[in-house]
Order: sequence, then structure tokens, then C-alpha cells
Amino acid sequence: MDPIRSCIVCRNKKSKNELFRIVSDNGKAIYDKDMKINKRGIYICKSHECINKCRKFITKDKFNTKLSFDNQSMYNVLLDLENELGE
Ligand SMILES: [Zn+2]
Repeated sequence: MDPIRSCIVCRNKKSKNELFRIVSDNGKAIYDKDMKINKRGIYICKSHECINKCRKFITKDKFNTKLSFDNQSMYNVLLDLENELGE
């Protein structure tokens, strides 16, 4: 069984294959595509809705996690995730 993780945006619990993983490399956000980077990370649903909400949280400075992320690198990762999702 896959471990269950919570989306940082909607807090729904899902299995890892339904989520994107983003890790913090000293504050720089990195898309951990294969979920193999040995750093602390967060998870976000593979949905445009959660990605868009995440971006709004950053804009309004309401993006609270135990990890700190550089905003610009997080924006870039969110763009990558959207490209991955398509449409
Ligand atoms: Zn979500």
C-alpha cells in the first residue's frame, strides 16, 4: 500500500500517486518528480484547482508550511506542475 499524505492546500488525504511532491533545498522549491529526493517536502493534489489555490496563497502570503520556500522558485515549480498536468 502507498503511504497516505495530505495535500498542503486542501488537506485531503490521498495516496502518493495522486499527489505532486515538492521538496525544499535550503528554501528553494524543487519538483521531486520521482519522489526520491532525500529532503523534506510537501504534497499537492494533481489538480489545477489546488495548484491555482497554492499560487494565491503565495500571493497573499498565506502559504504556511513547516518548511520555508522561496516564492519565486515555488512559482516556477507550480508552472512545471501545470505543464505536467496539461490543458
Ligand atoms: Zn489538494
